[in-house]
Amino acid sequence: MKINFPIYLDNNATTPVDPRVLEAMLPYFKEKFGNVSSKHSLGYTANSAVEYAREQIAKLINAEVNEIYFTSGATESINTVHFGIAGKSNSDKNHFISSNVEHSASYESLLQLQKQGFDVSFLKCDKRGFIRTAQVIEEVKPKTIFVSIIAANNEIGTINNISEIGSICRSNNIFFHTDATQAVGKITIDVKKMNIDLMSFSSHKIYGPKGVGALYIRKGIEKKIVPLMFGGGQEKGIRPGTLNTPGIVGFGKAAELCMAEFDEESKRIKSHRDYLYKKIVSSLDSIQLNGDSDNRLPGNLNLLIKGVKSDTLMSNIREIAFSTGATCYSETGKPSRILKSIGLTDEEAKSSVRLGIGRFNTREEIEYVAEKFIDVITKLRLKNYHTIN
Ligand code: PLP
Repeated sequence: MKINFPIYLDNNATTPVDPRVLEAMLPYFKEKFGNVSSKHSLGYTANSAVEYAREQIAKLINAEVNEIYFTSGATESINTVHFGIAGKSNSDKNHFISSNVEHSASYESLLQLQKQGFDVSFLKCDKRGFIRTAQVIEEVKPKTIFVSIIAANNEIGTINNISEIGSICRSNNIFFHTDATQAVGKITIDVKKMNIDLMSFSSHKIYGPKGVGALYIRKGIEKKIVPLMFGGGQEKGIRPGTLNTPGIVGFGKAAELCMAEFDEESKRIKSHRDYLYKKIVSSLDSIQLNGDSDNRLPGNLNLLIKGVKSDTLMSNIREIAFSTGATCYSETGKPSRILKSIGLTDEEAKSSVRLGIGRFNTREEIEYVAEKFIDVITKLRLKNYHTIN
C-alpha cells in the first residue's frame, strides 16, 4: 500500500477529523444553519441535532443525557469545574487535591486558584506516572472539598485507577473531577461505575472537530458550580453562548464511531504500538519506555532515546509528524514537567519522544517509522560518538 507523507504519529496532540464526522457536520454549515435557541423550524432542526449528539456522547461514557454540557474544549470544561467549585466554597471547605502530572489546563488553573488563596495539594506521581489512591486518602483533610486527577496522561499515557479514587471521594463527600481528555474513546469510561462526579473531555482527541468539548456533571452537582460566564442561559446557565451546532454534531458522530469500533480499534492500535516498540528496542540499545508498560493508553509510546536530542531527531525525520514532548511544552523549550515528575533529568527529558498512534495509521506506516527511527538514531549516535572522541 502506498504511504502518504507526512506519516501522522501525533494523535495525543490531536486527531484528524474522520471523513464520516465531516460528512455529518456539513449540512449544519449549510442549509441547517439555525440557532438552537430559535423558535422556528431551522432552530428546531439545529436543536434536535444537538440533543441527538448529547445522547451519542452520554452513551459513550454511560451518563444521562442531561448530565452533558457542551463547551469549547477540555480546557474550558476543566476551568469551569475548578473555578466553579472554588466559587461556591467557603473558608471551612477550601482545600483542593490534584497532582503534578495534570495537563497544563488543569495544573495552571489550580496554580491560579492557589494564588487567589485556595489551599491546593499537588500529589507527586511515582516513577511510572501513577497517582495512588493511598496518597489521596493521606492528603484528605476536614477542609477538603475537591479532588481533580487526570484519567490518562497526555504525554506518557499512564492510566490512573480512577474508579478507586472516585470511590474514596464519594465516601468522604468530596467532589471528584477527572480530566479524561485522553481517555474517553480510548479506554472504557463509565462515569457511574467509576464514581465520577465531574469529567472533562474534548472532541478533537476522538476524530471530531477542534473547538468543542464536553463537561459531564453528575445530576445535582450543577448547583454547586458558579459559571465562568454569564449570558443567554444556554446549557442551563453553566455555559452560556450560542451553541456550535456543526461542531457538536461532529463530536456526537465521533463519539458514536468510537463506541461502535472500540474493541477492534483499540486492539489494532495497541498491536501497532507494541510492534513499533519491540522493533525499536530489539534493534537499539539504551532505549527506555517512559510511563507504565501495562496500564497505558493503547496508542501511546513515549521513549527516552539516550544520547540523541529529540529536536535533532525531529530535524532528521521530517516525513514523520511526532512530538518531542507535550506540544504545549515545545513552545517554551523547557523540558517537560511530566517527564521530570517521573524522575527524568532535563537532559533525559530533552531526549524523549512521544509517538501517538491512531485510527488511520497502517501497518506499512508503522514499519516505515520503525526502520526510519532505527536508521536515524544509529547514525546520530555514531556521529555523536565521533564528535565526543
Ligand atoms: N487535558 C488533556 C489530558 C489533554 O491532552 C488536552 C489537550 O491536549 C487538554 C486537557 C486540553 O484540551 P483542549 O485542547 O480541548 O482544550
